[in-house]
Amino acid sequence: MKKLLIANWKMNPVFEKDAVKLAQGSDIKNTVIAPPFLFLKSIKSVLKNATLCAQDVFYEEQGAYTGEVSPLMLKKLGVKYVLVGHSERRHLGESDGMILKKMRTTLDAGLKVVLCVGEPLSVRKKGDIEVKKYIKNQLRGVSYSKSLIVAYEPIWAIGTGRYANPEDALSVVQYIKSIISVPVLYGGSTNSQNAKGFLEKKEIDGLLIGRTSLNAKEFEKIAKIAEEI
Ligand code: PEP
Repeated sequence: MKKLLIANWKMNPVFEKDAVKLAQGSDIKNTVIAPPFLFLKSIKSVLKNATLCAQDVFYEEQGAYTGEVSPLMLKKLGVKYVLVGHSERRHLGESDGMILKKMRTTLDAGLKVVLCVGEPLSVRKKGDIEVKKYIKNQLRGVSYSKSLIVAYEPIWAIGTGRYANPEDALSVVQYIKSIISVPVLYGGSTNSQNAKGFLEKKEIDGLLIGRTSLNAKEFEKIAKIAEEI
């Protein structure tokens, strides 16, 4: 499989014109762009190469759920991937149960799910075995789907500038694959300097990129590295 790069813009940029400009600069083959919900439609209209992703979804298709967004709405907009269980959402109160429901509804709607898992620093400090136990728990109830991708994102590496040692990341990626045989990405403070270390590992199928993806030139550099591997 070609290495997959997913740009998670989080709640950036604030203005639609800046989001569209960033999308035009990041419109590269084998990449996936996850902008804020509100900009999905206008970004869809300018993308020629990249694929569209939503950063979250609700676990019901429709009904009295104020403020929520249904997978059917996303599908109709041309979205192909959905991030589920990002640690920033778990931090805001999403439980494993909610995440499982989101995953199932989204897969049933015919979209691809990128399920995010990863341990906090307190667990990483206890060592590899504890990390794997933690990840195994997060994967409880998750079953194989050809539309499922897992992103291994250690929480202590997200948005902190600290990234995992590629060997440690590989060990967790291999472990995830031993539980569920799906593509697995790494995410956590990747940039054009450290991306190669992860991408050159055969079993790491790509990267979920946060902050760096807000810089189109940097994102393009990573895409080039991925292409050359
Ligand atoms: C992310 O948001 O999934 C992420 C990995 O962010 P960053 O690259 O900024 O650590």
